[in-house]
Amino acid sequence: MTSPLGQLSTVDPAIASMIEGERQRQRQHIELIASENFTSPAVIEAVGSILTNKYAEGYPQKRYYGGCEFVDQIESLAIERAQQLFHCEHANVQPHSGSQANTAVYLACLKPGDKILTMSLEHGGHLSHGYAKNISGMLFEVTHYGVSDESGEIDYDQLESIANGLHPKMITVGASAYSRTIDFERVGTIAKNCGALLMADIAHIAGLVATGLHPTPVPYADFVTTTTHKTLRGPRGGMILCKKEWAKSIDSAVFPGTQGGPLMHVIAGKAVCFLEDLRPEFKEYQRQILNNCKTLCNAMEERGFHIVSHGTDNHLFLIDLRPTHPEISGKDAQIALERANITLNKNTVPHETRSPFQGSGLRIGTPALTTRGMKEKEMLQIANFMEIILKDITDEKVIENVQKQAIELCAKFPLPH
Ligand SMILES: *Cc1c(COP(=O)(O)O)cnc(C)c1O
Repeated sequence: MTSPLGQLSTVDPAIASMIEGERQRQRQHIELIASENFTSPAVIEAVGSILTNKYAEGYPQKRYYGGCEFVDQIESLAIERAQQLFHCEHANVQPHSGSQANTAVYLACLKPGDKILTMSLEHGGHLSHGYAKNISGMLFEVTHYGVSDESGEIDYDQLESIANGLHPKMITVGASAYSRTIDFERVGTIAKNCGALLMADIAHIAGLVATGLHPTPVPYADFVTTTTHKTLRGPRGGMILCKKEWAKSIDSAVFPGTQGGPLMHVIAGKAVCFLEDLRPEFKEYQRQILNNCKTLCNAMEERGFHIVSHGTDNHLFLIDLRPTHPEISGKDAQIALERANITLNKNTVPHETRSPFQGSGLRIGTPALTTRGMKEKEMLQIANFMEIILKDITDEKVIENVQKQAIELCAKFPLPH
């Protein structure tokens, strides 16, 4: 495969060679980061296109700039496809990222000092759901719910009783490190009964939701936010879905509320991604993500590892290293695995005893490897790799040996770019 960076290699050889380095890294590493994926060459072409030149503040047919004939068509098509994919009344495809989407939702319906009830970060939530150093944590009065001690699953009874006592203006549901099906219907009922708005953040599971492999929050939530670069397998970006009654407020909270000109090249990439996601092959892909995840999770459990919530219903699972490897932090495990070309991230676990910079857990996801074409057989091989590295993270011979095998495995599943 030749490098497509002809111009760039001439103009800026330093950046060109760094991109080439990253391309090699992506080709030769076993990618288990649950929030990452390999988008298609078609999406990359759209994102790398001349659309980056265009200013288009506003919305289709209502722009503050001239020359928007084609970008209007692009954004309208992206919106139409998003509506088709998620069966929602309104879609805003302009948020630059998942966090931007959430911030715009808050701006659309909350005032500083309002009470919000959100899932705690330590139990799998996201920074943009009221973390103290995020704008959401600074502006609002935040109360957290979490997962139950015994099951490791969201404690809906706890959520309900906090909600009924607190009367929050908004409840958020959705996670970055949670491996179980989320009961959006139940949370919708809880929100309705206490008079709260509901924001469902499906950043991680959007691909499963779009294909019907995870229940959709669309009928129960006032707002649904997502990223487009995780299981949806599109360009890096965000999106907001909402009911018609909120359409105007959401659009003005995105622009001019929190953003300026939209990234039209990324919006084109989102449109391409939604088209790909509407095809039957995409559902097959999502099914394989689930099969691979179950297989890898079971294989780790069989090897004695402690799985948070004892399993997975989605594209990821969490290992709590403390029961089996009390002396290894998540961070040290991550570093050792990375040296063997296995990429994943450390994570905090429920009732974490280490600092968030160390962590006692590992988060493992299968969307990226599934895109490469890996199946159950390869998952078993990867479980073996992880087991032997974690047996002794200081054994250089083992790391070297696994790295060689990891590169060989990756070579059998080439990336298209
Ligand atoms: C990834 C994620 C986001 C944020 O996405 P960015 O694009 O990184 O801002 C928001 N919410 C949840 C639950 C996520 O997992």
